[in-house]
Amino acid sequence: MKGIGLVKGLGVTLKHFFRREITEQYPDVMPELPERYRGRLQFDNTKCIVCGQCINVCPNNVLSMETFRDANTKKRKLASFTIDFQYCMFCNLCVEACPVSTLYFNQDFELSVADRNAIKMTYDNLSGEVMEQGTVLITPEGSVPAAADEQEKTQQMQEQAEKEQRQITAMITAMAKNPHKVLARVVEGEEDLGILADLVGQDEKIAAKIAELLVKDKEKAARVAAGFIKKEAKRRNEAIFDKKGEE
Ligand code: SF4
Ligand code: SF4
Repeated sequence: MKGIGLVKGLGVTLKHFFRREITEQYPDVMPELPERYRGRLQFDNTKCIVCGQCINVCPNNVLSMETFRDANTKKRKLASFTIDFQYCMFCNLCVEACPVSTLYFNQDFELSVADRNAIKMTYDNLSGEVMEQGTVLITPEGSVPAAADEQEKTQQMQEQAEKEQRQITAMITAMAKNPHKVLARVVEGEEDLGILADLVGQDEKIAAKIAELLVKDKEKAARVAAGFIKKEAKRRNEAIFDKKGEE
């Protein structure tokens, strides 16, 4: 029958004509977003405990931070936190990983910018505000917590080295005051003890070597001391032999 298609088309038009309006009049009227809508990622620096879990979990390396060690408390503190939002895929993993709810998405959906750097945000831990849009203070390679751990490890090694140096200095002083008592830790027998006491009294290098080994490795100190004693005993015997030969 002619005109059936036209009637069907009018039917569809009428059906949509009476349906509830769904068009959003954006930007004149801002849309109502679902409660859990993920807009712009935000950072609340007053809560951050500098654990680095968000950085570890982010698959796109969106997040980075710079930390420093507090001279008084020796604790790691946050210097700045950067969100390079252009690479964010809104997966929410960082938000879920954060143990103190520092990260969260707001409902800002107007994320377009003319300059891609303008979407980066750097937070300063003192003000808690965006310092300068488009400026990234820190762009560490790889994992920041790993770098922070490395920094911590280096500091521990330095502290250990300084502690050992203090112990070595104290050992040298003690050896100078009472060599027999100190050297008795690695040498047995009065004769050997006497030889080694003479050596450390005459040669600063030998004293420093024995003191260092006494601090770091007592067994090695005993072996090295035995070597010095043996060499010195041999030298003394040869000297006696030569003297007798002259007589
Ligand atoms: S939402 Fe996902 S991609 Fe975006 S910063 Fe968090 S972990 Fe990274
Ligand atoms: S996971 Fe949370 S507390 Fe830990 S560094 Fe990231 S933002 Fe800070």
